[in-house]
Amino acid sequence: MASALNETADRTIARPSGLAEEVYRRVRADIMSLKIPPDTRVSVDSLARELGVSQTPIREALSMLEANGLVSKRHFAGYATSPRMDRAQLDELFEFRLLIEPHAARKAAEAMADTDMRQLASGDTAPSHDAFADMDTEFHRLIAQGAGNHLIADSLARLHIHVHIFRSCFRSEITEEAVHEHDAIIAAIHARDGDKAEAAMRRHIERSYGRLRDFIKD
Ligand SMILES: [Zn+2]
Repeated sequence: MASALNETADRTIARPSGLAEEVYRRVRADIMSLKIPPDTRVSVDSLARELGVSQTPIREALSMLEANGLVSKRHFAGYATSPRMDRAQLDELFEFRLLIEPHAARKAAEAMADTDMRQLASGDTAPSHDAFADMDTEFHRLIAQGAGNHLIADSLARLHIHVHIFRSCFRSEITEEAVHEHDAIIAAIHARDGDKAEAAMRRHIERSYGRLRDFIKD
C-alpha cells in the first residue's frame, strides 16, 4: 500500500514553486510595461543575479512566459521578448477579432451559465496598465468560453491578443473608455440580449482598433 502511494506521489507533475511564480510576475510586469522592450534578449544569468535567485526558478518562469506568448526561445541565444506588432499584424488581429468576438458575445448572451455570467465584472475604471491587461484578458476569455464553442475559446487564447495589444501603447483614457464599453457588453449579456451583446462587442473592438491604430507604424 505504502509503496503504491509513493509511486503515485512520484508520478505527480511538479507545480511551479512559489518562487518561480514570483519571478514570473516580476518579469511579466517588466515586459508589459516595456521596461524590457520587445524583441530583446532575456538572459537567465542576469535575471538570476538581478533577482538574487538561482537559475531554476528563472527557467521555470521563462517557460511560463513562453506559454503566455511573452517570450520565445531563440536558436543558441536563449530567450527573447516577443516582437512588437507591426501595422499589418494589427490589421489581421482586429479583422479576426471582429469576425469571432461579436458572434461569441451573442452566443454568450444566449447560452452562458448564470454562474459564469456573475464572473463578468467591469471593475475599477482607473486600474494600472498591468492590472487592466489582466482584467481585459479575463473578460474576453470568459465571453469566448461562454459561447460554448471550444474552437473559438482556444483560437482566441492562442493569439495572446492582450500581450500584443498592451505592449503597443499606453494611454490612461484607453482603460477608462474600454471599461465603459465592457459595461455595455455585460449589461447586454445579463439581459440575455444577443443582438445587443453582438453590437456592443463589435463597437468595443472597433474602438479598440481605432485607439491603437495611430500608435502602430508601418
Ligand atoms: Zn476589452
